[in-house]
Amino acid sequence: MKSNFLSICTAAVVMASMLFSCNSGSADKNNNAGANDSTQTTAIPAPRKERVLTAEEQAALTPDDVIKSLKEGNERFVTSNVTARDHSAMVRDAAQGQFPKAVILSCIDSRIPVEDVFDKGIGDLFVGRVAGNFVNTDLLGSMEFGCKVSGAKLILVLGHESCGAIKSAIDDVKLGNITSMLANIRPAVIASQDFSGEKSSKNEAFVNYVLKNNVIHTIKNIKDKSPILKEMADKGEIKIVGAYYNIQTGAVTFME
Ligand SMILES: [Zn+2]
Repeated sequence: MKSNFLSICTAAVVMASMLFSCNSGSADKNNNAGANDSTQTTAIPAPRKERVLTAEEQAALTPDDVIKSLKEGNERFVTSNVTARDHSAMVRDAAQGQFPKAVILSCIDSRIPVEDVFDKGIGDLFVGRVAGNFVNTDLLGSMEFGCKVSGAKLILVLGHESCGAIKSAIDDVKLGNITSMLANIRPAVIASQDFSGEKSSKNEAFVNYVLKNNVIHTIKNIKDKSPILKEMADKGEIKIVGAYYNIQTGAVTFME
């Protein structure tokens, strides 16, 4: 009985060490992020690969580094030059812990696959989603977890053009729980009454004006309602910025 127990323990140790060395191997194999971009000279460039961010790499990033990374990722998304990812290997690597670069707050709109839009993968981003990309206590708590506890360097509030939630807020739709949800977006509609053209949901220019004001309003709410995040932003530990997504092209325009 005792020897059986010992052999099971020995087997477990061997399996654990095999698993560990397997992870190390996959990390090494993928440890060429960006290297192919500048050094590849053959006619057919190897696909760009990326591995899961480590704690040291996350700590070395500045908020501006993260903004640059997101902009470059979106450029690759728009030009169909996205990174090749071995998802199975990344799942195994990410199981050791997570050290994401940013928290993205997006609308739930199905046309905005957030990681894809920024050419990011497993372990890269915290993503919070709610129709109309506003914040409430739960999303603020999630952001505080992402930045204060888990070390993310950026909060990006991502609105988008042709947003149904924005249009519904403009129309002051009343329907079930949607009514109270839209109350979170109404302040942006009210703040947009200085718009000079037709102020209706049928006017795309007005809808887009409200979406930008909604992003600005959400950023203000984050700073007003989260002393933790405001302090981090004031110290330069994080940045809180806005952007909006073009449904036609997939391009993200940063508002800073
Ligand atoms: Zn939307």
